[in-house]
Amino acid sequence: MRLSILLLIICLIISPALNAKQLAITFDDALHEAAGYFDGPTRAKTLIENLEKHQIGQVAFFSTTQFLDQEGLERMRLYDEAGHIIGNHTHSHPNFLETELSTYQQEFLQAHQLLQQFDNFKPYFRFPYLREGETVEKRDGLRNLLKENKYQNAYITLNNYDWYIEELFQKALKEDKPVNLQKLAEMYVDVLMQSINYYDELAIKHLDRSPKHILLLHEMDISALFIGDLVQRLRQGGWEIISLEEAYQDPIAQYQLPQPLKYNPGRIGEIAFHNGQKQGLWHYTLDESYLEKRFQQEVLLLSDQ
Ligand SMILES: [Zn+2]
Repeated sequence: MRLSILLLIICLIISPALNAKQLAITFDDALHEAAGYFDGPTRAKTLIENLEKHQIGQVAFFSTTQFLDQEGLERMRLYDEAGHIIGNHTHSHPNFLETELSTYQQEFLQAHQLLQQFDNFKPYFRFPYLREGETVEKRDGLRNLLKENKYQNAYITLNNYDWYIEELFQKALKEDKPVNLQKLAEMYVDVLMQSINYYDELAIKHLDRSPKHILLLHEMDISALFIGDLVQRLRQGGWEIISLEEAYQDPIAQYQLPQPLKYNPGRIGEIAFHNGQKQGLWHYTLDESYLEKRFQQEVLLLSDQ
């Protein structure tokens, strides 16, 4: 009897650690336009400070190389010197659906060369718009190029439309609308948490386990402002922040969908699709009109507009 009580207590102590959900944080589109709330270097410094303040450790910036002017270089060096991973996101962010294979391959190689100057460059490639080629020829053309250059396909598992919340924020600033930053933080965290939990549940449904996740965010003002709020909420919900290297140790890193996809919802969505699921590959928060309505009601404090 005493032994079973002791075992029960031990189980209760260790089970939260065993059940910890894990995710790595990545920011796409580094050198995203910065002319609204923060200028570029201020955004970078704020983001780096908030990552440090919340003990987030190393994250990854997937960078295009088309804006490496003086300001762009300063921003990239700040991320690099802070020890964060710099990955390849092509030179000018082409849409693979509208780009020939050879042009797309050049885009990859051009960024690959320009990113060599950063100490923390690592051979990770994040497809713009997550579009990996809608034909076998295009998909395999890129897969082979990644393989030749010893790259990892930097897939994501946790998809969301954070970029559209940023667009709404920047538009409101431009139009001198009264933005309640506290309310914006609350909306941002709530929307992100909903999609994160949704894709984790979808993963458990299809894999019978919670995999090591990769969260897609973007290098934007709202990310710099609210990354700490998001991570606090994640930890309250039992999430642990892990490195990108660790996240790509998960067996789903080896997964390859047999057929090419035109639009890619992220790796969990691909697996769900392969298992026959046709609906709900994109969570309902990944919707511009849904986000616009919430932004107007909750952040601008306007009713019924
Ligand atoms: Zn992108």
